[in-house]
Amino acid sequence: MNEPNLSPRTISDKYRFVDASDAAALEAALKASLTGTSDTVSAYEARLAAVFRSKHALAVSSGGAALSVSLFAAGVQPGDEVILTPTSPLCTVYPILAAQAVPVFCDTQADNFGADLGSLEQLITPRTRAIIDIPMWGYPTPAEELQRLAKTRGIPLIFDLAHSHGTTFAGQPLSAYADLSCFSTHERKILSTGEGGFILSDDEAILGRCRSYTRFGNLNGQDFGLNYKLGALQAALGTARLESMSVQLELRSENARKIAAQIRHPAVREFRILPNSSPSYYFMLIESDLADTQRFIDHLDAHGIPSDIKRYGCRNLYEFPLLSAYRRDCPNASALLKRITTLPVHPGISDTDIAHMAEAINAYTGT
Ligand SMILES: *Cc1c(COP(=O)(O)O)cnc(C)c1O
Repeated sequence: MNEPNLSPRTISDKYRFVDASDAAALEAALKASLTGTSDTVSAYEARLAAVFRSKHALAVSSGGAALSVSLFAAGVQPGDEVILTPTSPLCTVYPILAAQAVPVFCDTQADNFGADLGSLEQLITPRTRAIIDIPMWGYPTPAEELQRLAKTRGIPLIFDLAHSHGTTFAGQPLSAYADLSCFSTHERKILSTGEGGFILSDDEAILGRCRSYTRFGNLNGQDFGLNYKLGALQAALGTARLESMSVQLELRSENARKIAAQIRHPAVREFRILPNSSPSYYFMLIESDLADTQRFIDHLDAHGIPSDIKRYGCRNLYEFPLLSAYRRDCPNASALLKRITTLPVHPGISDTDIAHMAEAINAYTGT
């Protein structure tokens, strides 16, 4: 195989952006209480609810905490079953194990990361206490039909939207379709407070249970809880950075559009986006008809183009030792993971980076 003669270049999949408004927000926050119950945190929660068009928001210490708290609020008890797709990251399933609940793996649809509804129906038992949907890399899943099924069966629906700040379906943020939506604001995510997370819900009672749980059940000796609060300094940073999030989302989708327009390889294209929806472009997803997508990923890696598939060794969760006891073959999910890779499209990506990525894709001669 002839390796193309591309100029060497290393493209980063990390994006860190610090500006003067960050420092100003932190300085202002230092003048008031720094606790998780301070006005600075309430103000952040009010902005989160407004920006994400949700009735209520609760800031928490991480995306993992958001999931643990949501499972508690959904009423998940030891031995209960929680249905999720196996294409999710380990961070989505560990909170289920921490709750001593049983992860039940449901296959994805053939051409998106949403749960296959036929399989899902069959997996529901009297012990099913929650369904978690995870739109990977911010590509929308068919939220409306999943919401309908969960409502009909009376099962709480949780979205893990750690990749999906800004993902929409039928004109609404994905969070509009779930009982509880969990976000991470870890440094790698679209909205970053270093570490952190938040929960959105339109249901005041559910969000109240979440809030109490994150505050040791308000120490009344009756309601159980732990401390999952977010500190005021991170909240101040979050409030400042929320202001530029829509600009950031626009730049991400513009970068993805430019790459898509420059791809000429007949076996490679952008992953299919569901009609009437738009991705957050946490990463751009590329899909191939190649027999060996892994070699294609190695080729891109050799040209300085990183892939989340390679970085995280993405595979169905039940392939990992800690989860092998929950194996349930999911052929659609396996096939999906075998034919995709990710490209960074964050605002730090330049037009030269974009041209380099497209050239490296177009120059691939493997099968
Ligand atoms: C990052 C991430 C999490 C965990 O978030 P943390 O803030 O790191 O705890 C959970 N789920 C998904 C899908 C993630 O990408």
